[in-house]
Amino acid sequence: MTRTQGRVLIIAGSDSGGGAGVQGDIKTVTCLGGYAMTAISALTAQNTRGVRAIFDIPAAFVGEQMRACLEDIGADAVKIGMLHKKETIDVVCDILAETCPRTPLVVDPVMVAKGGQSLLDPEALATLKSRLLPRATVLTPNIPEAEALSGIAIGGDSDLAAAALILEKQGAKAVLIKGGHRDVDPVVDVLWSGGRVAATFSGARIDTPHTHGTGCALASAIACSLAQGMTLEDAAERAHAYVRGAIESAPGLGRGHGPLNHGH
Ligand code: PLP
Repeated sequence: MTRTQGRVLIIAGSDSGGGAGVQGDIKTVTCLGGYAMTAISALTAQNTRGVRAIFDIPAAFVGEQMRACLEDIGADAVKIGMLHKKETIDVVCDILAETCPRTPLVVDPVMVAKGGQSLLDPEALATLKSRLLPRATVLTPNIPEAEALSGIAIGGDSDLAAAALILEKQGAKAVLIKGGHRDVDPVVDVLWSGGRVAATFSGARIDTPHTHGTGCALASAIACSLAQGMTLEDAAERAHAYVRGAIESAPGLGRGHGPLNHGH
């Protein structure tokens, strides 16, 4: 019997194109040696050129998927991606509190797809802030998401620090702000914990359109690594290296923002 180490429950949306969302998450967790389970929050009809349509799974059924996994198989870490609706966030938070209040939780506060389509209802933002952030072991916003959650417009490094501190005050135990949206080279991701910078991860900007699903992959690589017992710093470092390698060797599929290479 082969033992797969690290059970990860992924609560996120489906990407029919296979690049981001639960498909990207399952590929990431599998490639890193973990065991992936899913509670799908919404189906998207999308490809490398964008999201064409979103079909929400009823919140109660998202909860059924979570319970089915947690009550039998169990989870060593939970990863949250696109939740889309306020009701879904409420159900997810209720079940996490009831069934696995201490399990490490990686929250990727997904808001807008690279193609510009909204993946979070505007009225769900307040619930994400008030209910999900305080439960996060680590929150992984990109710059626009950090701005939306903190209310700070991020220009320089001092703004970044101010935003990270606000997100920590809102209850996230640690915050990894991804620097890819800033117009700087090298790209720097900064991990904040306990009111200070715990680690930074940098690398030369890779000039490519094939970055679809990078945020999903980073968050699920962290979740998988936490599930396998790594420290947050080591998990973030491994996830950063994994995503860089996956961008560098991307297969170049589609005519838009193509997917990553998870087999590298
Ligand atoms: N579609 C789904 C279902 C997602 O969960 C995400 C995650 O952020 C995206 C699309 C966006 O992917 P990207 O912004 O990398 O194109």
